[in-house]
Amino acid sequence: METITLALSKGRIFEETVPLLAAAGITPTCDPEASRQLIISTNLPHVRLLIVRATDVPTYVQYGGADLGIAGKDVLLEHGGEGLYQLLDLGIARCRLCVAVPRTFDYAQAVRLGSRIRVATKYLKSARAHFAAKGVHVDLIKLYGSMELAPLVGLADAIVDLVSTGATLRANGLVEVETIAAISSRLVVNQAALKVKRALLQPLIDVFEEKSRDRIAQ
Ligand code: ATP
Ligand code: MG
Repeated sequence: METITLALSKGRIFEETVPLLAAAGITPTCDPEASRQLIISTNLPHVRLLIVRATDVPTYVQYGGADLGIAGKDVLLEHGGEGLYQLLDLGIARCRLCVAVPRTFDYAQAVRLGSRIRVATKYLKSARAHFAAKGVHVDLIKLYGSMELAPLVGLADAIVDLVSTGATLRANGLVEVETIAAISSRLVVNQAALKVKRALLQPLIDVFEEKSRDRIAQ
């Protein structure tokens, strides 16, 4: 039997995807937070979920390890999107990619003076493109997490990171100075799978589309 494999990360994306799956009549048989299983079956014998790191979702879909995936726009911008169709904005896991600096750092003046700014981020590609477009000179420092820490210990003048409420920035004495991009999660599909398994995939894509249209209209 032909199967559908959907790659997604646990945490907020999984939680916000459960209602979308429910609308398509799909119920996972276990919760990835509670289980160590990386392949989760569902009530439908031909549908399974792969639980992978958020940054690995586009790679699994690109190489056909999964037919479909759900990934943040931030992750897709860094990946580049080769081999994928970005089908839908699901409107889930919404936040923004921002430049933030310590309250005491005069970012506008540093930009005006043409100073070199040290920026810590895990989003090298997006950060590079953003500062290049503005003509701001930066030294990028790659980190894998807790970017907010970098300015506090003098590792960087600024960070590029995701922000939703801004509570983490505030708690670390940082302020948002620029928005680089609005972020939400997208449904991506393997290009070959869309051709070969169209009949199987299309009904699921249609339900996701209907649900996300409602959500984005809100
Ligand atoms: P980890 O936090 O385990 O290191 P991660 O940061 O890659 O992994 P998540 O925190 O679950 O994984 O983030 C997954 C996606 O959710 C991100 O790629 C982004 O699109 C979105 N996201 C991240 N932080 C927020 C947030 N604070 N609010 C809303 N969406 C967010
Ligand atoms: Mg995270």
